[in-house]
Amino acid sequence: MQNEERQGYRLASRSYKNEDSTLLVGNLKIGADFLVIAGPCAVESKEQIFACAKEAKEHGANILRGGVFKPRSSPYSFQGLGFEGLDLLSEAGTAFGLPIITEVISIEDLDSVARKADILQIGARNMQNYPLLKACGELKHPIMLKRGISATLEELLQAAEYILAGGNTDIFLCERGIRTFEPTTRSTLDLSAIPVLKKLTHLPVFVDPSHAAGNREFVPPLSKAAKAVGAHGIIIEMHPNPEKALSDGPQSLDFPQFREMMSDLNRMPW
Ligand code: PEP
Ligand code: MN
Repeated sequence: MQNEERQGYRLASRSYKNEDSTLLVGNLKIGADFLVIAGPCAVESKEQIFACAKEAKEHGANILRGGVFKPRSSPYSFQGLGFEGLDLLSEAGTAFGLPIITEVISIEDLDSVARKADILQIGARNMQNYPLLKACGELKHPIMLKRGISATLEELLQAAEYILAGGNTDIFLCERGIRTFEPTTRSTLDLSAIPVLKKLTHLPVFVDPSHAAGNREFVPPLSKAAKAVGAHGIIIEMHPNPEKALSDGPQSLDFPQFREMMSDLNRMPW
């Protein structure tokens, strides 16, 4: 117990629960297989999200992503379509039989977003938003918790503990790159985090190579690395016309790149 108090998390630890956790999203079992979440950074229009959903479905992705409340670093950048975007995401998910994930950034939106989205994403910028984490703990709804850009793995697990301690055990983690001295990539993908987290916690661990790389050219090799190192899945950004994307265009795969990456991943064992 003393050791658990020192590390600041208990329910998330392997010593509390030794077997790997899985969670059900529709008929998908997160944690039991290598899964791919794909879609645009932000929902921009009906045409755009339907094109992404079709592409994702036809080439083997399992879950559709799309931001509608965007936590942009600049207040002048596109902030997302809000609930109108969530309706489009939900229609696209239903049309192509894909569960959907979207980010929530405020407590007051939690219940309404949870009514439409199969998984709620807590983004890097909110990993230490403790009131939001506590509110997620009170839901009975799947949550993907992303690592903060300067958060240690212990801090990530403590953040997960806030949700678990509230009674919500349907959660999984996502390594999305951390800020280092290296400027050639947007963040540095911490591939060590995957085996280390799998030793420390029973929670499934995903990887986001798109936000880590910040450049579409590096997304396919990092996706393969994520699978090779034992991640339970990846979340990647794609767009029918990345040059015209309203957010994160440079790191969004175009459709031919997405197809090639999916076929490479499918050939890899897990
Ligand atoms: C995103 O997934 O679009 C996002 C904003 O990611 P992160 O919170 O990791 O920056
Ligand atoms: Mn993005």
